[in-house]
Amino acid sequence: MKSFTSSHTSKLKTLPPSIFTIMSKLATAHNAINISQGFPDFDTDPILVELVAKAMRAGHNQYPPMAGIYTLREAICEKIELLYGARYHPKYEVTVTSGATEAIYSSISAFVSPGEEVIVIKPAYDCYEPAILANGGIPVFIQLNNKDFKMDWLDFKSKITPKTRMVIINSPHNPSGTVFSREDMLQLNDALKDTDILLLSDEAYEHIVFDGLSHQSIARYPELVSRSIICASFGKTFHITGWKMGYCVAPKALMQEIQKIHEFNVFSVNHPMQRALAEYLKNTNNYLGLNEFFQHKRDFFLEAINSSRFLYTPSQGTYFQLLDYSQISEEADVDLAKRLTIEHGLASIPISVFNENGIDNKLLRICFAKKDETLKRALDILVNL
Ligand code: GLN
Repeated sequence: MKSFTSSHTSKLKTLPPSIFTIMSKLATAHNAINISQGFPDFDTDPILVELVAKAMRAGHNQYPPMAGIYTLREAICEKIELLYGARYHPKYEVTVTSGATEAIYSSISAFVSPGEEVIVIKPAYDCYEPAILANGGIPVFIQLNNKDFKMDWLDFKSKITPKTRMVIINSPHNPSGTVFSREDMLQLNDALKDTDILLLSDEAYEHIVFDGLSHQSIARYPELVSRSIICASFGKTFHITGWKMGYCVAPKALMQEIQKIHEFNVFSVNHPMQRALAEYLKNTNNYLGLNEFFQHKRDFFLEAINSSRFLYTPSQGTYFQLLDYSQISEEADVDLAKRLTIEHGLASIPISVFNENGIDNKLLRICFAKKDETLKRALDILVNL
């Protein structure tokens, strides 16, 4: 039989494994506290689990409709209208997906053709680039500065070319924890207004914003809505990352194209979970309390980290906090993250892997979606470095 080598067969030759896989594996191997990959170590609401069990007992165990069950699509549209004002039609403009990641992949795959450019803001969450490359697109990077991670909108405009097909934004931003302001959104609108560029907005952390700031969803900006796909995550909102449940919304003409990819990739996603989420979303308290819940964890963490040698700017959103270790070590961030896992029993995420050309600004990302006792154990290690 002919033997295939990866250099013959690989479409994604230069793609390294995800840092989340690497660090979580290392954490398990060394029995380390895992504040690397972003997932809670506490359980979801038992009421939500019970709703899934109820749906299973009621026989909702076969394929749901391709786009998701109608009551869940309705609940999603109602939530968006309530919070941000935009009205999406549940019949044509929503798809329930296998996590925000599938929504992002399906959206990129639906619209990006070989040779087309996609603007990506660095540091960037690691699922955008592989999706662009797998579809023959060309990622064009904008590197944010490592101090306040503010967007330079002139720099942004300079990256737009006749080949630009799509722009990907992500606020609240993983990994920096910064959020776009209203002014950022107006600048974005200004940059795109005379173009037919599509906008993909990764809003996975929409319900985790601190210090009284408000999430600037695309759905607040009617001019942007018409060119945009919003991708969102139930995993992040309801502490159920393992259920792989998310959704996207977009105007009908765009959604039709996304569904062509979704339908022939996954067809549809978990039916009983959809039944449960449709029910659970009815109570707005189930997601509106999240800001306060996570702000408490962020503040608890930062209060204690003040007595360490780490420097930081408080995260404005997401459940991540960046820590600057330049006063502690000169090691490369990847080396330090691995050494901390192996020698100190604490796994974190090095930021250079998300930067253009792997720029290393001596930053580690920690996830504070953890029980207070886990955070305490992690802090015991961090304050003694
Ligand atoms: N979103 C999670 C994070 O940023 C990771 C998800 C994954 O492992 N792909 O940590």
